[in-house]
Amino acid sequence: MSSLDYKQLSYWLMTAQDSLDPRPSLTGHADVDVAIVGAGFTGLWTAYHLLQHAPDIKVAVVDKDIAGYGASGRNGGWCTAELPVSHGVLAERFGAEQAQAIQHALFGVIDQIHNVTRREGIDCEWEKAGALMVVMGPEQQESAHHLLREAAVLGLSDHFAWLSAEETRQRVNIPHAVGAVYTPDCASIHPGKLVRGLAHAVERRGGQIFEETPVTEVLRQASRWRLATPSGSLDADAVILATEAYLSQFPQYRRYVLPVRSSIILTAPLTPAQWEQIGWKRRLGLASFRYTVDYLNRTADGRILFGGRGAPYEYGSRIRPGSAVQPETRTFLVQQLRHWFPQLGDVAIDYAWEGVLGMPRDWIPRITFDADTRLGWAFGYTGQGVAMSYVAGYLLSHLILGLSDADPLVRALQPWLNRPPQLWEPEPLRFVGVRYTQRALRLLDAEAARSGRAPSGRSLAERLARH
Ligand SMILES: Cc1cc2nc3c(=O)[nH]c(=O)nc-3n(C[C@H](O)[C@H](O)[C@H](O)COP(=O)(O)OP(=O)(O)OC[C@H]3O[C@@H](n4cnc5c(N)ncnc54)[C@H](O)[C@@H]3O)c2cc1C
Repeated sequence: MSSLDYKQLSYWLMTAQDSLDPRPSLTGHADVDVAIVGAGFTGLWTAYHLLQHAPDIKVAVVDKDIAGYGASGRNGGWCTAELPVSHGVLAERFGAEQAQAIQHALFGVIDQIHNVTRREGIDCEWEKAGALMVVMGPEQQESAHHLLREAAVLGLSDHFAWLSAEETRQRVNIPHAVGAVYTPDCASIHPGKLVRGLAHAVERRGGQIFEETPVTEVLRQASRWRLATPSGSLDADAVILATEAYLSQFPQYRRYVLPVRSSIILTAPLTPAQWEQIGWKRRLGLASFRYTVDYLNRTADGRILFGGRGAPYEYGSRIRPGSAVQPETRTFLVQQLRHWFPQLGDVAIDYAWEGVLGMPRDWIPRITFDADTRLGWAFGYTGQGVAMSYVAGYLLSHLILGLSDADPLVRALQPWLNRPPQLWEPEPLRFVGVRYTQRALRLLDAEAARSGRAPSGRSLAERLARH
């Protein structure tokens, strides 16, 4: 691919203000201490933290395309402390005390990321204005109250506040809103600038990045690892697979993670009068309580980003190359945007793209490093990976270097480490189950919006998708 083609993948890559000319591929043979497959946030944060703790370590990051090619260069720009699972499920899996510690650690991570970006001079258009989970009709009211009750049980009420319809409108004028839950723990960022800036920070610290270098095999040779690529090979003591949703493309890991498509439309810049009309003053993240997730962001250059997970799962976990959005998905997103802000009428859509995020069978992200074989991975953030990938990189660097687990972040996230993967069903069962659930949840959302009544929570699709 040329630099120009990479720019077409997303608005973020196009405006990252970085040359997307690929760095040299790996040719011949190289030897390092740690080899990392994938130059998204996970791979780059892992390399960054390794070099931060051990400046002399030899680290190489290898990407089949370029740094930021995957979800890291295409996402919704929410850097959030929100987890892929609800507080209730978190408490069920880890116990209330651990769940509380995990959530508190994640609140702190948002500011840690900001500190690193400042230290490294990465201007990723950071604005920590928080997020609103908006109740877009009476049918969503119970979900909001449920969220608040679960947060209260874990003593997290300081981080989740109920806003009445009037209070919501004072922050953003969403005509259908009947209330919202406000959380301060979310920043709006330019992910393209963050991921590309991070790649430069890794290089400044002595890490190597090889681009357009697909890893075709990960081989164990005596007590070391060999990564095979079409143009060369890389030997290492330790290997980290930081390919998130793309892990499903390695035959031996196909059932570890489900690639889920998420699509985004981006409006033309709004006029000051339009911003006044919708009263969305700061770069507050917005989402609703629909099952078929929606998320909105206000970009620093005055556009609205609207994202959703409507696009259907592809048989065999196939991932489409490129980032084209299917016409029906685009139409659906445009309709949804109009529902949020009818005042805007037919606002022009300048860009649309999609990417894949990785969903584990039980919704719990995996962060694993086997101290004996020295193979590790992190994946399965289910659309909440911007902050979580920082955590993964931080923890993996500690595990690889055998650093003390007395570190507060490592201690808090300890229960997350080294959990065996839960496998997705083999095909064709996976295809039938996932497609059925996607369709059923869409119908449940539509019916709830029509009737004004919340879904029962007892249907098969809701039980399958509980998290
Ligand atoms: C449309 C969309 C919107 C999202 N919105 C948000 C959001 O607002 N907030 C949030 O927190 N999260 C969001 N997410 C999720 C978040 O972007 C991801 O969780 C995060 O970026 C994952 O980072 P990663 O480095 O693990 O994976 P990726 O960024 O996907 O990187 C994986 C890399 O591995 C490379 N690779 C794959 N296979 C190979 C191979 N065989 N050899 C070499 N390299 C390989 C790929 O080219 C890619 O660059 C969103 C995701 C999508 C798709």
